Amino acid sequence: MAKEDCIFCQIVAGRAEVSKVFENQELLAFLDINPLSAGHTLIIPKEHYENILDIPDDIISDISVLAKTIGRRMIESLGADGINVMHATGRAAGQSVFHYHVHVLPRKRGDRVGFEEWWFSRTLHPTRDELDEVSNRIRL
Ligand code: 5GP
Ligand code: ZN
Repeated sequence: MAKEDCIFCQIVAGRAEVSKVFENQELLAFLDINPLSAGHTLIIPKEHYENILDIPDDIISDISVLAKTIGRRMIESLGADGINVMHATGRAAGQSVFHYHVHVLPRKRGDRVGFEEWWFSRTLHPTRDELDEVSNRIRL
C-alpha cells in the first residue's frame, strides 16, 4: 500500500518528477536527486516496504539482480571503473527515506567519493577472542 507521506511512493504514483533508469511492474530505478557521483541510482520496490527486515525475499532478490545489470551498464556506458551497491536500514545506519531502496554508485579511480579513506581510518583492531565472541552471538 502506498503511503501518502512517503516521497518514494509519490514518485511511484507519478506525482514527483524523476529521471528513470528502469521500470517494470515490481521495481523502479531512478537517479538520486543528490548524487555522490554522476549516475548515482536508487532502486526501489513499487510497494512500500520500510527496510531490509520488511521486504519479501523474492523482491530483494530481483533488486539485487537489477543492481548487477545497472552496474554493468554503468561500466559500459558511463566508463565507471567500479560500483558500490549500498543500503541503510534504520536511522542509526543513515537511512533517511523509510521506503526500502538500494543505492548503485558508479565509481571512478581517484574520484572524490572517498569512502575508502574514511573506512580504513575508522576500522577497529579486535583480538581473535573479541572477534570470536561477536561471531558466536551472530552465528545462525
Ligand atoms: P538513504 O539516506 O535513506 O539511504 O537515501 C535516501 C536517498 O534518497 C538520498 O541519497 C537522497 O538524496 C534521495 N532522495 C531523497 N528525496 C528524493 C527525491 O525526491 N528524489 C530523488 N530522486 N531522490 C531523493
Ligand atoms: Zn513508500
